[in-house]
Amino acid sequence: MEKDPYAYTPVSGWETYNTPEHAEAMESLARRYLEFLSECKTERETVAYVQRRLRDAGYTEEHNGGAVVRPFRGKALFAARRGTLPLTRGLHLISAHADSPRLDFKQRPLIEQPGVAQAKTHYYGGIRKYQWLARPLALHGVIVRRNGERVSVILGEDPAEPVFTIADLLPHLAQKQNTQTVTDAFEAEKLNVILGHRPADKGAEDKDAPKDAVKKHVLELLGRKYDITEEDLVSAELQAVPAGPARRVGLDAALLGGYGQDDRICVFTALEALLSADAPQHTVGVIFWDKEEIGSDGATGASSRFFQYCVEDCIAAWQPEARFSEVMLATRALSADVQAALDPDWQDVHEKQNAAQLGYGACFSKFTGSRGKYGASEADAEYVGWLRGVLNARNIPWQMAECGRVDLGGGGTVALFLAAYGMSVIDLGPAVLSMHSPFELSSAVDLYATVEAYKAFMESC
Ligand code: MN
Ligand code: MN
Repeated sequence: MEKDPYAYTPVSGWETYNTPEHAEAMESLARRYLEFLSECKTERETVAYVQRRLRDAGYTEEHNGGAVVRPFRGKALFAARRGTLPLTRGLHLISAHADSPRLDFKQRPLIEQPGVAQAKTHYYGGIRKYQWLARPLALHGVIVRRNGERVSVILGEDPAEPVFTIADLLPHLAQKQNTQTVTDAFEAEKLNVILGHRPADKGAEDKDAPKDAVKKHVLELLGRKYDITEEDLVSAELQAVPAGPARRVGLDAALLGGYGQDDRICVFTALEALLSADAPQHTVGVIFWDKEEIGSDGATGASSRFFQYCVEDCIAAWQPEARFSEVMLATRALSADVQAALDPDWQDVHEKQNAAQLGYGACFSKFTGSRGKYGASEADAEYVGWLRGVLNARNIPWQMAECGRVDLGGGGTVALFLAAYGMSVIDLGPAVLSMHSPFELSSAVDLYATVEAYKAFMESC
């Protein structure tokens, strides 16, 4: 059938990339992505991975080499490759976030209840609490001793190790809960992670078991393994996350399932683009943030000054006469974050013509925010026009969408924090199904198309 020259329909990535060469490249990218996702379940682990790959590629913390990496408190990271054009022509910047929703241990986490010792949690970011019950969990994080020594913790990932879990109510006794709203039925104070069940041994002289014997035993085990005491947990950041590796999904293995794809899929694809882009004309940069899921505040979040300090240092080294404002006003940015995929079973929460579809390439969102575009930094039409020209010139599939039906809700990204500098910025990232759940889904072809899109943006002039 001939293509209607006036009509627009998005193009499926599966159609665009239907050659053996693309299939092979897509396969190898998906394999490396699943390894990354399985290894990086916290912002610290993600930043460490990015740092390692950039170091292997010759990035240093000095500016003399033209490839600079600046990690910040192990939780955020800026990297840049110097272009042939002066900085006053602007950066081509991609921003993503390395944090994901999870269950954080409270600062005094340990309790004993009948039969078990547990850790109390305070959830981080937007979770649907019931999704975290009755499933294997792993513990990732750090414990800092009072002398400053840092102990890294990963427990429950090695198949030979035990996992952790939160027990759920049995259906036999859930009659009352079944009549409650979801909000009332699941309480944060019941999200207690089971850490142990066997009591500590009685001392030879003691008649009775010690008080809170199971908790005591857990502390003994932690003490022996990590040389810590209960007080050390006060200065710890321990996160309960879904245990086990990311997996392929479906008979065709075309979907990728795993925890933390919002927004580590954008960290990974932006990193791949940075490492594989041809010598850029504009200086290209990536910035990976923490704290996006709780509003982007804090020193490592997007509302901090860290990004500004990094660019000021690049200016001082590479073009000292340039003014920061000049550089910012000429900068083009992508806020690389995931978009809600049209849910096959909940199609009614989307407005289909403007919903992101799995398999149709990275998705532009001209604005985010909610109900009446509140809290959005809307990209201007000129920038959208330029960008789709860049992608169309390379036959890269893309789509344009908003989060869901206008009256139903919405969400924000870090775009507005970048827009505050005066740069051009728009959201561009793959669609994700089951977003914020312990097992998010993305499309292998979107992963591939997103790297191509980010690379085209970095190489564009
Ligand atoms: Mn996100
Ligand atoms: Mn999110």
